[in-house]
Amino acid sequence: DCTIAGYDDELAKAIAHEARRQEDHVELIASENYASPRVMEAQGSVLTNKYAEGYPGKRYYGGCEYVDIAEKLALERLKQLFDADYANVQPHSGSQANQAVYFALLQPGDTILGMSLAHGGHLTHGAKVNLSGKIFNAVQYGIQPDTGLVDYAEIEKLAVEHKPKMIVAGFSAYSQVLDWARFREIADKVGAYLFVDMAHIAGLVAAGVYPSPLPHAHVVTSTTHKTLRGPRGGIIVAKGAGEEIEKKLQSVVFPGIQGGPLMHVIAAKAVAFKEALEPEFKTYQQQVVKNAKAMAKTFMERGYKIVSGGTENHLMLIDMIGRDTTGKDAEAALGKAHITVNKNAVPNDPRSPFVTSGLRVGTPAITTRGYKEADTVELTNWICDVLDAPADEAVIATVRDKITAQCKSFPVYG
Ligand code: PLP
Repeated sequence: DCTIAGYDDELAKAIAHEARRQEDHVELIASENYASPRVMEAQGSVLTNKYAEGYPGKRYYGGCEYVDIAEKLALERLKQLFDADYANVQPHSGSQANQAVYFALLQPGDTILGMSLAHGGHLTHGAKVNLSGKIFNAVQYGIQPDTGLVDYAEIEKLAVEHKPKMIVAGFSAYSQVLDWARFREIADKVGAYLFVDMAHIAGLVAAGVYPSPLPHAHVVTSTTHKTLRGPRGGIIVAKGAGEEIEKKLQSVVFPGIQGGPLMHVIAAKAVAFKEALEPEFKTYQQQVVKNAKAMAKTFMERGYKIVSGGTENHLMLIDMIGRDTTGKDAEAALGKAHITVNKNAVPNDPRSPFVTSGLRVGTPAITTRGYKEADTVELTNWICDVLDAPADEAVIATVRDKITAQCKSFPVYG
């Protein structure tokens, strides 16, 4: 028997249970989505066997004629998707794409200015526990505690004071639109590169429902597995970066920080980019935002505060400061009701990052399942029922039954 089930029962069960969990639970983690069966087909293909160090047409291994086709397709489609004139599809992850940008354009010890993790930035934007915060002199900006919004005047002040060589814009937990042009203006004022990490919003950008950073940034990175709905991985794109920057990016990804590219993942990226170029993808992303807005409105109607007062993208932060329920408790109670979210720090959070007073929720995954606004409102009301009484097992059981029924009517893979 050449199947996993016929060979490795313990692992087969774990995979089967995960498949069941994905069908039976509502996924609200803003960074997750469901890749299409075609994307998974490519990822599970024979391309996993192939070494292809180098780039199409310039490989260090023989037998690359077919994987070259796959990588070229991925590159062409990616450029078309974001109107880019440079693309690299080899980064194994979002973090590695970011690492490549840093090492292409900076020297150890240089100053970078990025959004702090606690305020919605990513680890790789200069957090002390990450290489970006260890190797570089990382100065961090945040959001205004009263409005929950990015304060461009503060960023400009920090930029003038610290003279960073690079400004990093992008986020993992910010529900508003960033002003890319304003970021570029600040970067130009101090002679810094503007690097945008659009990991969370790449799908929205591709569909034209969120402003594209490409006309403004020197270089842009993304993951491919969030709103973009592809395989787990990273990409780098740019428009008008110039030959010098492009050359550096190419040589830092390989041989600088990576060896052989994951050709099966690159093929899966090519599939995902083709899917993202279809008209349905635009409709999907529009629905992601409609669902997020309906969700935010419902939370607020039920008395829950949303950081920044709403959402203009796929995610939002629920601020529970002043309530007895912590982010950690809320995550656990919702988990029992088969609703998956993550606890998240909110501005002025008095609790530790392991406990928090907030939740981050997003709509990319439920929208892939087919949820429309009415379904999202129904779901959000059930979430509020649990948040109102997180220790009430009867409420949790009632909500879990409703979730089970709702999930059945929106199968992920059928
Ligand atoms: N950049 C941002 C803004 C992210 O939110 C994430 C993932 O959470 C990453 C980069 C890192 O991506 P990966 O987990 O693929 O390394």
